[in-house]
Amino acid sequence: MLLKAVEYEGELQDTVKAYTDLDETSKSGDYWDKKDADIKKLKKHIKQHYLVVQDYTCVYCKQKIIVTHGMAWDIEHIIPKSPYPKFLFEEENLVIACKDCNGTKKNKHVLVNKKRKTFPKNSKDYIIVHPHFDVYDEHIGRLADSKIYVGNTPKGIETVLICGLHRFLPKYAENLSLDSSKRAQEFANTMNEAKTKEETFFIMALMKKDLEQAMNNMLS
Ligand SMILES: [Zn+2]
Repeated sequence: MLLKAVEYEGELQDTVKAYTDLDETSKSGDYWDKKDADIKKLKKHIKQHYLVVQDYTCVYCKQKIIVTHGMAWDIEHIIPKSPYPKFLFEEENLVIACKDCNGTKKNKHVLVNKKRKTFPKNSKDYIIVHPHFDVYDEHIGRLADSKIYVGNTPKGIETVLICGLHRFLPKYAENLSLDSSKRAQEFANTMNEAKTKEETFFIMALMKKDLEQAMNNMLS
């Protein structure tokens, strides 16, 4: 299910308008950090909205972090705010992300057309999985409900890279015994020596079983 975008009403709408009415040269990503009561109020509204609709779940790594302290979460500009200040308060350019994903993604490019002037509202305009325009599971799979992410489409692969989703791998790798990598190597050697397709198939079947066992041990 796609996310419900934030809405601005009353005073909040005025705060956004004050920014969007500025001429293009006066717009800047720094405006976001202005120590201004109205901006703070607006940001609080954005964060609260997305915490609820995302159910305290990061749009990129899908980690659920239930903390009432808002500092645990970042408001994420899907198209980064510094190179593209024009989209600073664009409703569908905002979500919340965990600190790790947001920190890794930073100012990396996410657009197909980097010179885009109007806000892109289509999935095909983005090189990453867009939280508002794409269905996550169609692009990124997770191995046995673990935090091992597999990009299944070009967008999925790009998202895994841009958000650094491989950062969880060392944790799993810790459980990988040297025995299992040695065994995999032995299987590979045996496969090289197979003389018929049937022999190769048989070794592959054994290898699959063995690897699955080793993988389950790692993930448990
Ligand atoms: Zn995350």
